Amino acid sequence: MKICDAHVHLGESGPWQPYINPTIYVEELIQLFNKYNVERAVVFPNPNVGDKYPEMNNYIAECVKKHPKRLVGFGRLDPRREDATKELDRIKNSLGLKGLKLHPMVECFRPDHPFFNSFFEKADQLKIPILFHSGNGFSSPGLIIKIAKKHPNLPIIIGHLRESAIAALKECENVYVETSGTLPDYIELSVDVDENRVLFGSDVPYYRYPTQIAIVEAAEISPKAKRKVFSENFQKLFKG
Ligand SMILES: [Zn+2]
Repeated sequence: MKICDAHVHLGESGPWQPYINPTIYVEELIQLFNKYNVERAVVFPNPNVGDKYPEMNNYIAECVKKHPKRLVGFGRLDPRREDATKELDRIKNSLGLKGLKLHPMVECFRPDHPFFNSFFEKADQLKIPILFHSGNGFSSPGLIIKIAKKHPNLPIIIGHLRESAIAALKECENVYVETSGTLPDYIELSVDVDENRVLFGSDVPYYRYPTQIAIVEAAEISPKAKRKVFSENFQKLFKG
C-alpha cells in the first residue's frame, strides 16, 4: 500500500528526552521513506530550541528543493512574536512552503485569544493550511475548532487524532484529522464521519513507522477508505 504521511519532523533538535534524539537529516529520512513505502510527506522543523525557527524553516525549504516529489514543506514559528506575520509571509512567499505547524503547548499560546486574530487572518489570506498539535490545555481541539469556524476556507489539520477531535471533524468541513499516536477505534469513528478528511500521520522520529502503520492497518474500515487514509486524501489536499 502506498503511503503519504502528514506529520514528519525534519532537521536539528536539541535534547528532547534522554532516550530519544529527534535530530534527523533529509538523507536519512528519505531512506526511511523508501524502507516503509512512504511516497510523500509533510515535513516541518522539530520543536524550537532557543529561537531557531527561521533558520530551521530555511533548512526545510532546502530539503524540499532537493526532493520536491517526496516532501511537502511546512514552516514553524512562534505566533507570540511581533514578527510572526512577517515570518508567515516569508514561509509562504519567499521559501515557497505549503503550510504551517503550530504547537500551542510548546509555543505556549492560547489559539483563540484575540491577540492572535490578525495572525490567523493573515494565514487565511495566504491560504496556508495549519497542522495543530492536539492534546490537553492550549492544544485542546475545543480551542482549535474556534479557529476552524472563523476561517471556514482554511484547511485545519488536527494532529494526534483523539476522541475530542472527532467532534471537530463533525462540526467543521475544513477540519482534517491526522492519525499519529491514535487508536484504530478513533480512525473507525472518524471514517464514519467523513472518510475524505482522515490523513495518515506518523510523527516520525518521535514515533516509528511500524507502529503507526499498524494502527491504521488494524482499523476495521473498507479497503477504499484505507487507501484514502493512507494516501489519496493527502494527494488531494497537497496536489503536485
Ligand atoms: Zn510531531
